[in-house]
Amino acid sequence: MAELWQLSITEAAEMLRRREISSIELTRAHLDRIEQVEGSVRAFVTVTDAEAMREAEVVDQLRREGAKLGPLAGIPIAIKDVLCTRGVRTTCSSRMLEHFTPPFDATVIKRLREGHAVMLGKTNMDEFAMGSSTENSAFFPTRNPWDLERVPGGSSGGSAASVAAGEAMASLGSDTGGSVRQPGALTNTVALKPTYGRVSRFGLIAFASSLDQVGPFARSARDAALMMQAIAGHDPLDSTSVAEVVPDYSAALTGDIKGMRIGVPKEYFVAGIEPGVRASVEATIKQLEALGAEIGECSLPHTEYGIAAYYIIAPAECSANLARFDGVRYGFSARGTKGDIVEAISQSRAQGFGAEVKRRIMLGTYALSSGYYDAYYLKAEKVRTLIKRDFDAAFTQFDALVCPTTPGIAFKLGAKTADPYTMYLNDVFTIPANLAGICGVSFPGEFSEGMPVGVQLLGPAFGEATLLRIVDAYQRVTDFHTRMPEVATKRKGARKRR
Ligand code: GLN
Repeated sequence: MAELWQLSITEAAEMLRRREISSIELTRAHLDRIEQVEGSVRAFVTVTDAEAMREAEVVDQLRREGAKLGPLAGIPIAIKDVLCTRGVRTTCSSRMLEHFTPPFDATVIKRLREGHAVMLGKTNMDEFAMGSSTENSAFFPTRNPWDLERVPGGSSGGSAASVAAGEAMASLGSDTGGSVRQPGALTNTVALKPTYGRVSRFGLIAFASSLDQVGPFARSARDAALMMQAIAGHDPLDSTSVAEVVPDYSAALTGDIKGMRIGVPKEYFVAGIEPGVRASVEATIKQLEALGAEIGECSLPHTEYGIAAYYIIAPAECSANLARFDGVRYGFSARGTKGDIVEAISQSRAQGFGAEVKRRIMLGTYALSSGYYDAYYLKAEKVRTLIKRDFDAAFTQFDALVCPTTPGIAFKLGAKTADPYTMYLNDVFTIPANLAGICGVSFPGEFSEGMPVGVQLLGPAFGEATLLRIVDAYQRVTDFHTRMPEVATKRKGARKRR
């Protein structure tokens, strides 16, 4: 039999229901796996093992008492350290919040808790979700379980790596310009960015408020559907969440995609994409066609302006959102500033934020300053409208679009840290969906050079069920998503002590 940490949520939930295993056993198995591989992967900033075991015990007790429990009850899950968790340190992988313990749960956490999911801990990320490799974490980089010399993507690299390495059965991340889908692509996981407004952001520490969404990582479309079911829906505490009915995502997985119209945007297959990635996406398209989908070419002509617009809008919004971290109201407080408030604030920010965060705050402040607002910010917002119109037009003809998630497979640690611009280019295929507010999912396709390749599906607003149906149909006839890496196990703390 497979190890417990290799099970899908769907399988484990059934075994829990039949009482073939307990949540205590399942949680223990994941904590052991964490102990075994964390020394090399380093997906977690905080592991809440005692709390996890307590929660598991509670669910097992409830089950014994015959309580009616949902599909995530007793399932061990990891959470990106950008989501507030009551009583559990929430750092955003920043010195600024290194000692911050929220007094409340984000709405998505509250919902997972109501479903009695077991929280294993908080995962590493690029500082304040700014980055594509997890190398911007103030603490340490996370490594790709498929090749420890490579990055797991970012900014939700820890959440992606934890699921890929079997440390967690699923996880939550946040996607502002690709931070769920891109790490999903590089680690062989199913990674969904919901439509803007589909999932509450209450308790998600804000990066760029018009772009941020919370989304799940899982090892199959079926498991991702269960995660979506738990977190989606209107929240009175988030006025940008939409009161649109939440469909039954699992019921949407019929396996039938006959006659579904899937567009191939030609601008997503341009120079710069690695041949192995192109081949993988093309093979997936053939497979979808074989399953009865109608494939056709389409055009999203403003794609090439996406990065430029995003790197004005996201920094502009982050410069406002991060203004609250001044060492007085929030965050790290510098010492030795002798009662000088201006010096105290600037020293707190100088020492509390890392280089990438400062770069974005400066860019954003500049783009919003008088005289430059019209030239940069307003212009970027106009481009954004054009990008959204491209998608609106495409979705009059197609139910979904298929393309690569990233131009290449996971890159080596350090390969792109010297030049921020080459790092930004990694998000060329994920950013447009955030600018347009639509949904997207990355899922495992054929491998290239022994590494995972992510295929991306983009859907219209509230098209999540359609995307999951396509991925599920594909996963019924392929097995890429079932592959798991062999992680070199280096015991934590095995280094010689002096
Ligand atoms: N990599 C992109 C950035 O650095 C996207 C980040 C994200 O989605 N949070 O901004």
